Amino acid sequence: MRKPLIAGNWKMFKTKEECLDFANELKSLYHDTDVRAVVCAPFIYLEALKSAFVGIGIRVGAQNAYFKDEGPFTGEISVKMLEQYQVDYCIVGHSERRQYFGETDEMVNQKLLRLLEGPIAPILCIGEDLEEREQGGEFLAVRNQLVGALQGVTAGMAGKLVIAYEPVWAIGTGKTAAPEQAEEMCEFIRNALEAIYGEDLADQAPVLYGGSVRPDNIARVMNMRNIDGALVGGASLNVKQFMDMIDF
Ligand code: PEP
Repeated sequence: MRKPLIAGNWKMFKTKEECLDFANELKSLYHDTDVRAVVCAPFIYLEALKSAFVGIGIRVGAQNAYFKDEGPFTGEISVKMLEQYQVDYCIVGHSERRQYFGETDEMVNQKLLRLLEGPIAPILCIGEDLEEREQGGEFLAVRNQLVGALQGVTAGMAGKLVIAYEPVWAIGTGKTAAPEQAEEMCEFIRNALEAIYGEDLADQAPVLYGGSVRPDNIARVMNMRNIDGALVGGASLNVKQFMDMIDF
């Protein structure tokens, strides 16, 4: 039985004060639920959020990490460093990182391999861009990203992997994929996981949808058989909207 997972991606938003206000308000609104809630925040807020959420079920995630443990990599934060802060999740291969910071499938693969050596669960983002969809190449694009990211990842390592299907044309644009469109791709991803790792792993792997999810459309997305949750950008910045989505 797969547990619903709602992960907020704050991207590069919020001041320290706004971050602490959000955490305090979320604590007061939050109630026990079967839905796993995750806040993926900028690195500098992770420690404060971990402390704020002690004793309640909200998990904390990073938005990126470097695969080398240490070295002359100015400006980077390693997976090993995040592990010391008991970070629970880490987004890998978000389309904004691929688009603006030149992340390739190979880099995504290295990050994933390193994360899977330790306790942090990766949220691997894959999804086609508008041109690929318009040319009918969306399944090939998603398959290539998935296979590229999973090079060398064995079934034994893949147990805590989370996949987020995020069509690039739906991220931050206000355009949501139709739930049926999202379901079709999430089913395709699950079938691809089955072909690589077998039925058991594919059955228990959480597959999320991301792309302009909001309180008013999340229920339809969550109603789909192969969609286990949502990766939410813009709407996760507002604490009431985030809580409404946890309560979808
Ligand atoms: C995201 O950042 O992963 C995302 C899906 O953003 P938005 O919900 O704003 O489209």
